Amino acid sequence: GDLHDRLAALVHDVPDYPQPGVTFKDITPLLADAQAFALTVEHLVERADTPIDLVVGMEARGFILGAPVAVGLGAGFVPVRKEGKLPRATLSGAYDLEYGSAVLEVHPDTIPDGSRILVVDDVLATGGTAAATVELLESAGGVVVGLAFLMELTALGGRARLAGRELDVLLSY
Ligand code: IMP
Repeated sequence: GDLHDRLAALVHDVPDYPQPGVTFKDITPLLADAQAFALTVEHLVERADTPIDLVVGMEARGFILGAPVAVGLGAGFVPVRKEGKLPRATLSGAYDLEYGSAVLEVHPDTIPDGSRILVVDDVLATGGTAAATVELLESAGGVVVGLAFLMELTALGGRARLAGRELDVLLSY
């Protein structure tokens, strides 16, 4: 529909970034467009399975989308960060990347037991980041009631790693 076309026109393909053969989807033109950014946030807010206690965003573009979605839902915001960035006691989870692995961390005392959580990020690719985030949040005592992404790169199969989860995606490629 109209919303889809308008947003899709503001996502730019960058060939061979960050490495040869990969096409990176750059959302900075969408974020810089006041109406498109507002429509994106409104859409993610409207489709959430309310009530939501906490929105969790993954570093770094998940912060940009997740924070305004949290305000729109009347929810708090919790950042999931890369290793070594959070200053207090953290809970961490490792996950596999194409080459090697990475660690995600959260401050578990910002997640009261049983909190209803919506996870927000810009892109669902292989699903590794999202699956590791869900595991981390549930080991901290939260209840992930859904995940919302601006875009899904369907060929990378991320959806299969989130089987049984409520997924909301605005744009599919
Ligand atoms: P995954 O773990 O393979 O699903 O990758 C998802 C993570 O990598 C997200 O946090 C995205 O921000 C980032 N990412 C992967 N591909 C792209 C892309 O084409 N554009 C922007 N971010 C991407």
